[in-house]
Amino acid sequence: MFQCRAERKFTKMEATGTIQGQLNRNDILRMLSLRGKEQKELFNTAAGICINTFGSKVYFRGLIEFSNICSKNCFYCGIRKGNTLVERYNLSDEQIMEAALFAYKQGYGSIVLQGGEIRSAAFTIRIENLLKRIKELTGEGFGITLSLGEQSYETYEKWRLAGAHRYLLRIESSDRRLYQEIHPDDEHHEFDTRLNCLHSIKLLGYQAGTGVMVGLPSQSVDQLADDLLFIREMDVDMVGMGPYIEHPDTPLHMARKQLLPKKERLRLTLNMIAAVRILMPDINIAATTALQAIDPFGRERAIMAGANVLMPNVTPGLYRNAYSLYENKPCADEDPDDCRECLDARISLIDRSVAYNEKGDSIRYLRRNRSK
Ligand code: SAH
Ligand code: SF4
Repeated sequence: MFQCRAERKFTKMEATGTIQGQLNRNDILRMLSLRGKEQKELFNTAAGICINTFGSKVYFRGLIEFSNICSKNCFYCGIRKGNTLVERYNLSDEQIMEAALFAYKQGYGSIVLQGGEIRSAAFTIRIENLLKRIKELTGEGFGITLSLGEQSYETYEKWRLAGAHRYLLRIESSDRRLYQEIHPDDEHHEFDTRLNCLHSIKLLGYQAGTGVMVGLPSQSVDQLADDLLFIREMDVDMVGMGPYIEHPDTPLHMARKQLLPKKERLRLTLNMIAAVRILMPDINIAATTALQAIDPFGRERAIMAGANVLMPNVTPGLYRNAYSLYENKPCADEDPDDCRECLDARISLIDRSVAYNEKGDSIRYLRRNRSK
């Protein structure tokens, strides 16, 4: 049974107060290998740690996918620049404001502004102005996360000053070689740039979030274990990890025969979530939408494996189909109103409740800043 070394070590560390977790690579590999009854025990341990740290509440972030226009060509992504089959959209400022206020009024406590990567002075100013407007209407108690890819230090700084306080930038894979395999070999897709961006985000005092895709073609469990070590080493405040899901109009689709079955990608993603919760008890961990694309209860399973954040989509329904990072994206034809009821019921069914009107900051972040 999973009275594994990881758990014993964790319990011991908890007792001695060294909660940061010094579990080693072998402990992580063991956690990633678990199935059946032992896997359930792993999930129970992780969910228990989550509840001990954050209580039984789940934080909501209203997700605004405001544009699928992207200057990059990541091999895995359905909205990559080179995909001519996707219809491009860009919400107007008023539509973004409406979606942000909708989330605020629903009591979602935070929003995430996500979109394709655009680097330009006009884009920097546009986001800066939007942030100021949202902040003015919602005040300090409302969280704003950005997920707009790689930007200059100065741009990150401007956005931070304008009111954004969290930034999500997945490293996608911490293995430099695998990273290079899934991105074009040019100056727009450099591993070091992404890494430097993460450092800038941290330096500027954002709550920094990162994560990886799980089940990429040729990705090994050893690489996933190293991803978790990377995440711990980076000392981030938030993690978002989801299964890689193939998209027919992308170059990586060619490698689909190498993919693990979706069930196995689900198992591995959930084990990754549980492991990261055990490694980093006090960070926010998202139950990502991609999980639901491969299992109707994927996000609930993630919460039962240690996640504590859910991102209801508040993008106007009309545009959701076009934000197609991968195939089978769930809720693509629903309106934002449907999501709240549906998610509320889903959370209640797993004996958890929604933290309405709470910003839901990462406890790790709060502790770190308190001790400064
Ligand atoms: N452009 C920004 C944010 C939007 S993409 C950025 O790249 O950071 C958000 C995330 O979607 C990416 O970080 C990636 O991990 C995920 N994603 C893209 N294509 C995917 C796919 N085919 N399967 C699963 N996740 C995918
Ligand atoms: Fe653009 Fe992000 Fe997709 Fe890469 S993953 S193509 S940066 S939207």
